[in-house]
Amino acid sequence: SKAALFDAENKVKITFNDAAGLEEAKEEIKEIVDFLQNPGKFTTLGGKIPKGALLVGPPGTGKTLLAKAVAGEAGVPFFTLSGSDFVEMFVGVGAARVRDLFKQAKEKAPCIVFIDEIDAIGRSRGKGQMPGSNDERENTLNSLLVEMDGFSTDSGVIILAATNRPDVLDSALLRPGRFDRQISIDKPDIIGREAIFKVHLKPIKQHENVDAKKLAAQTPGFAGAEIANVCNEAALIAARRDKKAVDMADFQDAIDRVIGGLEKKNKIISPEE
Ligand code: ATP
Repeated sequence: SKAALFDAENKVKITFNDAAGLEEAKEEIKEIVDFLQNPGKFTTLGGKIPKGALLVGPPGTGKTLLAKAVAGEAGVPFFTLSGSDFVEMFVGVGAARVRDLFKQAKEKAPCIVFIDEIDAIGRSRGKGQMPGSNDERENTLNSLLVEMDGFSTDSGVIILAATNRPDVLDSALLRPGRFDRQISIDKPDIIGREAIFKVHLKPIKQHENVDAKKLAAQTPGFAGAEIANVCNEAALIAARRDKKAVDMADFQDAIDRVIGGLEKKNKIISPEE
C-alpha cells in the first residue's frame, strides 16, 4: 500500500530532553527549530534558509532521536525514509518513493524529512557498490537531488539525513543548497553516558544501590542504544530472578551480556576473523 512507502508521524512527542548528552549537537540543531517556527524572521534580510543538514556519527548515538526531537520541539510532522530500504528495490520504485515523499512533505509543511542511512542511496559512483543494485540506487539518488533542488528554501521542508560514512557520500549531495551543514554526533563520554543512563533508568524500578555514575564508568565505548539495551536487559534479568527491584548485580550482568553481544557482532562483520 502507499502508506507503507515511508513513515509519517504527525504528532511527535520526543523532545531534546529525550536525547541526553549531545549538548553541542543540540545547540547547532536548535537553529533548525527556529527556522521551522519562524521562517520569516530569517528571510527578511534576503537570507536563504538551509534545505538540509547531515547528522554524522556512529550507530546508535541518537541521530534519529535528535532528528525526531527537532520535529517534536518545533511541533511539526516527521517523515522518515531509510536508505537501506532501497538496496534491493525494483527499478523505478525508489525514485517514485522519493517523489511521493516530497509531494506529501510539501503538502504538510512546515515539516522534517529524515533520511536514515543516506549512504545506502548516496554513495558516490564507483565506491563499494553492490552489483546489480547500482542502477536503481543511482536513479533514487538522482531523484533525491532533483527533489532537493526543486523546492524553494521557503517551502518549510527541512531535510535531515543521518550517516556513519560521510566519506563515501557522493559530493553532489554535499553541495551548497543541499546538505551543506554537518552536525557531528559522537559516542558519549562518561558524563554523557551518565545522562543517558538517567533517561533510561526512569521507567525502571530500581534498588537503592543503583548508581548512574558507576554504570557510566563501567560502560566505556557504549553508545546510547547500548545503554538503553543494558537498562532493559537488567530489568528482564531482575524479573527472571523474582526480584522486587533491579539492583547493581542485575546491571552488572546486563552489561556483560551487552558486551558479549557486541563482541559476537564484531566477529561476524570483521573480515579478518
Ligand atoms: P543508527 O545510526 O543505528 O540508526 P542512531 O544514531 O539513529 O542509530 P537512534 O536510533 O537515535 O540512533 O538511537 C537508538 C536508541 O538508543 C534510541 O531510541 C534511544 O533509546 C537510545 N539512545 C541513543 N542515543 C541516545 C541519547 N543520546 N540519549 C538517550 N537515548 C539514546
